[in-house]
Amino acid sequence: MESGAKKWGFQGKQGLEAASTTTVRGYLNLLMGNINQDNCLTVIPLGHGDPSHFPSFRTTPAAEDAIVDALRSAKHNCYATTVGILPARRALADYLNRDLPYKLSPDDVFLTIGCTQGIEVVISILSRPGANILLPRPGFPLYEAWCAYNNLEMRHYDLLPEKGWEVDLDAVETLADENTVAMVIINPGNPCGNVFSYEHLNKIAETARKLGILVIADEAYDNLAFGSTPYVPMRVFGLTVPILTMGSISKRWVVPGWRLGWLVTSDPDGILQKSGVIDSITGFLNISSDPATFIQAAIPQILENTKEDFFSKIISTLRECADICYNRIEEIPSLTCPKKPEGSMFVMVKLNLSMLEDINDDVDFCLKLAKEESVIILPGIVGDLLCETKKQRMNDAGRAVELKNWLRVTFAIEPSLLQEGLARVKAFCQRHAK
Ligand SMILES: *Cc1c(COP(=O)(O)O)cnc(C)c1O
Repeated sequence: MESGAKKWGFQGKQGLEAASTTTVRGYLNLLMGNINQDNCLTVIPLGHGDPSHFPSFRTTPAAEDAIVDALRSAKHNCYATTVGILPARRALADYLNRDLPYKLSPDDVFLTIGCTQGIEVVISILSRPGANILLPRPGFPLYEAWCAYNNLEMRHYDLLPEKGWEVDLDAVETLADENTVAMVIINPGNPCGNVFSYEHLNKIAETARKLGILVIADEAYDNLAFGSTPYVPMRVFGLTVPILTMGSISKRWVVPGWRLGWLVTSDPDGILQKSGVIDSITGFLNISSDPATFIQAAIPQILENTKEDFFSKIISTLRECADICYNRIEEIPSLTCPKKPEGSMFVMVKLNLSMLEDINDDVDFCLKLAKEESVIILPGIVGDLLCETKKQRMNDAGRAVELKNWLRVTFAIEPSLLQEGLARVKAFCQRHAK
């Protein structure tokens, strides 16, 4: 058996094993298993950004109609082209072209199975022996999982809570070397709920240009900004530096189960073309599966028929939820929220362990909270175990543990349930206070 395992290369894919326990889904399973069925409390999910079950987050009928029409036309029962069908790519290019100083063409748009497949594509095509990539900490653990799976060395730069979770650009410059291929940013931010300003994005672009690296912009939460900083897509800076943008309809339209996303190349100077990145994307998509054809076919109608009042209703519900979340957490002495969320569906909350009795760390907090109050919150440590190659992890130990004793909280649930959930968190913290 052992020699078989070696022959089939199981040793090389350590990412898989690690990913199953340290990704968001891995932790959710662990916490759900810790719920005490006997106390008959409704489980309140503050760990997972999928509000599609809640009435306040129901998608627009315009999108549902678009799907029904596409399906009933019987024109889309076929396989799609591997890069996505042209009408959808064209409609998305128009949608993403707004306010750009250059123009995207349909050829710059690749349809993917959610933003998730976009991440798989970019990490896979950029992986080669010796290369490294810069990832945000805290970040989205799927990046760590795909880097581990592809043996792509990851180096983490910090997001700075005291600066409203801006990128530590000095760290980016220090971490990057001639083998660095790209830096990843997530804006609006998961899990910090921050929105980068135009000026900060400009600095990111300038830094990446200076270092000669690509910017990978995860915009899964595009346009979901409800604070004082307006959302600006990274691709606005496409004339400064080549950009790969990932997005999807999952969050803005609240339909994560429809699995429709895009990978967009901002390459007005043809750098991605010349360096073979575009060919690699096409090559990768040639050998992978595609979003369902009728969902692709619905895209033009979804984009055209969704009314502004649907978007503004979702935004105002998220703003209400963010307010509830921030204000309720302020009332709990053992928790602090360094910055009120301005975007996405998440916020990072610091755990002040010195004020709590019999709680060892963030994981312990979350396990006990699940057991006693049936509230699911993710520990900040999620993903951290995957973060570094061993050597780097040792060099970097002080920084790698920085996220320990933080919590990742989603506020995108029905407002009344959010109130109830945070009241239970407060009761829990009072009960465990020193
Ligand atoms: C939800 C999310 C994704 C995945 O989005 P899908 O379109 O549902 O695959 C990717 N990145 C971030 C930061 C997310 O929060």
